[in-house]
Amino acid sequence: MPPTRITAMPERLLRKEVLALHAYHVPPGNGMVKLDAMENPYPLPPQLRQEIARAVADAAINRYPDASALCLKEKIRAVTGLAQGTELLLGNGSDEIIQLLALAFAKPGATLLSVEPSFVMYKMIAAFAGMQYVGVPLTEDFALDLPAMLSAMERHQPALVFIAYPNNPSGNLFDAEDVEQIILAAPGLVVVDEAYYAFASASFIPMLARYPNLLVMRTFSKLGMAGLRLGFLAGSPLWLAQLEKLRLPYNIGVLTQLVAAKLLQHHDILLQQAEQIKQDRTWLYERLVGTVDVRAYPSEANFILFHVAHAGKVFEGLKQRGVLIKNLHGAHPALTGCLRVTVGTPEENELFIRALQESIH
Ligand code: PMP
Repeated sequence: MPPTRITAMPERLLRKEVLALHAYHVPPGNGMVKLDAMENPYPLPPQLRQEIARAVADAAINRYPDASALCLKEKIRAVTGLAQGTELLLGNGSDEIIQLLALAFAKPGATLLSVEPSFVMYKMIAAFAGMQYVGVPLTEDFALDLPAMLSAMERHQPALVFIAYPNNPSGNLFDAEDVEQIILAAPGLVVVDEAYYAFASASFIPMLARYPNLLVMRTFSKLGMAGLRLGFLAGSPLWLAQLEKLRLPYNIGVLTQLVAAKLLQHHDILLQQAEQIKQDRTWLYERLVGTVDVRAYPSEANFILFHVAHAGKVFEGLKQRGVLIKNLHGAHPALTGCLRVTVGTPEENELFIRALQESIH
C-alpha cells in the first residue's frame, strides 16, 4: 500500500467525533510541588504500608480478579452507609463509569446535559460515545441557574444529567433544593457526581431511596487512592442491573481490589487526612483572599479556584518556582483569568503562597 494511503487511513476510517477530539492533557509533574490534580498529598503510615506490602506479596496475580469484587463491595458498603436495597457498580476510576453510562444511554439523538463550567469529561465522553451534549451555564458566582436548567431540560429532554457536587473546577456545593428540583423535573436519569464528598458537608446518598431516577457516583481518588483507580455508582438495582451488563468483567484488578479493601478497613486514617486537608483549605483560602489582586472562590472540595489579572504569567511564574497548579484560563469563557490549586501539605501550601506572591508582583 502506498505510504500516503496509510497515513490517510485514520482520517478515512475513524468516526468524525474521534477525529475532532483533543486527548485529555496531563502535564508532567516530576520534581514539582504537585498541586494540579486534587490528589491527597499524604503517604500512608509505615505500618499500614508494610501490611499492604505483605498482602500484595501473597496476591494471586496469575489469576483473574473476582469479577464481582464481593469483598471490596462489602467494605465500600460498610464505609458509605448505603441503605438496604441500594446496589453498587464499580469502575476503574469514576471516569470509566461516566463512559459506561454514556455508552448505555447513547441511542441516536439522545442527550447528556450538564452545567458549565464543570468536569470536562462529561462533554468529552458524550462526544465519543455518540451522545448529544448540552452545557447549561452556571451563574456568575458558579451557582446553578435553576430556571435555565429547567428550560434546557424541557427543550432537550436529556436522557442523562450529570451534576458534580461539589463542582469541579469551582469547588462549591450547589443549592441542594435546586438539585432536587432538577431530579424531580428530569425526564431521565440524574447522576450526582460526588468525587469530592470527603471534603464536603453534604451528600445525596440519603436521597437515593426517595428518587428512583437518581444515582450517586463517587471516586476514592481524592481520598488517597488516585493510583488505584476505583470509583462506584450507587442506586436502585433497576438501573444498576442493566448497567452491569456493560461493565467489562474484570475491570477492577486483583491489586486494586486487595489494596482498596485493606485501605477501607483503615478508613479512619484516610478520613483523618481529609480532615487535615479541610483545615488547611481554610488556611489556604484565607491567604488567597488576603493576597492583593486575587479573588478566591469558597470551596467544599480539596482545591480552590481563584482569579488573577494575568493567569498565564502567574501560572508560568509558579512553574518556574517549582509549583504546578492548573491553568483554566481559556478552558471556558467563565474561567477567564482562573487558576485552580489543590490543597497540599502545610509546607506545600506555604511554598505555593510564597511563589504566588512573587509571581503576581
Ligand atoms: N468527577 C469529577 C467531578 C472529577 O473532578 C473527577 C477527577 N478530576 C472525576 C469524576 C474522575 O475521577 P477518577 O476517574 O479518578 O475516579
